[in-house]
Amino acid sequence: MTSILVYALHYDGAFNKNSLGAVSEGARLAGELGGECHAVVVGDRTGLPDELCASLGRYGATKVFRVEGPEGLAQPVVDAMARIIGDGGHGYALFGGGLLGFEIGAGLTARLDAGVCMEVTNVRVEDGKLVAERPILQDSSVSDVHYRSDVGVIIGRLNAFEARQTGDGSAAVEDVDVAFEPHSTRARMVTRGEQRGAEVNIEDADILVAGGRGLGKAEGFQTLEELAGALGGAVAATRAVVDAGWYSYSAQIGQTGKTVAPKLYLAAGISGAIQHKVGMQSSENIVAINKDANAPIFEFSDLGIVGDLNKIVPKLTEAVKARKGD
Ligand SMILES: Cc1cc2nc3c(=O)[nH]c(=O)nc-3n(C[C@H](O)[C@H](O)[C@H](O)COP(=O)(O)OP(=O)(O)OC[C@H]3O[C@@H](n4cnc5c(N)ncnc54)[C@H](O)[C@@H]3O)c2cc1C
Repeated sequence: MTSILVYALHYDGAFNKNSLGAVSEGARLAGELGGECHAVVVGDRTGLPDELCASLGRYGATKVFRVEGPEGLAQPVVDAMARIIGDGGHGYALFGGGLLGFEIGAGLTARLDAGVCMEVTNVRVEDGKLVAERPILQDSSVSDVHYRSDVGVIIGRLNAFEARQTGDGSAAVEDVDVAFEPHSTRARMVTRGEQRGAEVNIEDADILVAGGRGLGKAEGFQTLEELAGALGGAVAATRAVVDAGWYSYSAQIGQTGKTVAPKLYLAAGISGAIQHKVGMQSSENIVAINKDANAPIFEFSDLGIVGDLNKIVPKLTEAVKARKGD
């Protein structure tokens, strides 16, 4: 019987989609291994009431370890998870990805001298053990990673695991006192802030309107913000425009940005370079507007519109507003 420990990040009274996906995946895999999925939450006790912690049971966690400690920092979570795994003998630690997931996962790997695989997009059970699947060579191939260590660390690609509510279950909540390492409390959260363009969490948006160099200038994003507003979505960007300072890095999609899988990804003035594609190719519906009929993005679009985005995007916004009766 092998159990899995999952880190769940909460902010402002809710767990993010990425963490809920990791808990769901942990529960699925633990079920196949005949074990249980447990979650760890770290933060200020007042921000982690029983009901919030227990709600992870709806995603399949049977137990939630609540640790009082600084929120949003990696090292205290490493201490907490190392301690809980030491006590509980979990066979695997699972993270949903994201910057914090990567940092905690890497720290935990070093602490436990464990095997680790990052950017995992799928996990399967083989001979009673987990095998992590990781895309390689710019996502053109997938490698299987097997674990020889006592504890295997699996760090998913952001939002790779789907959040699945499996019932009304309520997880047992257990408070754990963790003595943090001296270095773990040296850093402290001074402030949390939002970058321009990051008001909406693009990883959680069902609709993304993404802009590239074809917008011509930073002001071009205004028309995309209007369209995204009409559709009830958020705005994303390519690296080319982020590097040019036209939009916030927090909105960058791709190899060196975020990975997203919205229901609709509308790409305007984006060529479709492989480094951009790897961040959005799992989108359910891809619509591209590009004036070049030979642009690579059309090769993986569900719907392609050849034309000038300066003419098409405002018309689309008008049409959406008219349809909604605005
Ligand atoms: C190591 C590495 C990592 C990278 N990581 C990323 C990453 O994370 N994310 C990312 O996006 N890129 C990344 N890149 C850069 C990537 O290779 C491309 O350069 C970039 O994605 C191109 O951005 P773009 O599509 O906005 O610009 P371009 O490639 O210049 O494309 C602009 C498109 O707009 C079209 N266009 C122009 N005017 C109009 C108009 N009026 N109406 C309609 N269409 C128009 C053009 O036909 C063209 O297809 C990375 C590169 C490297 C080497």
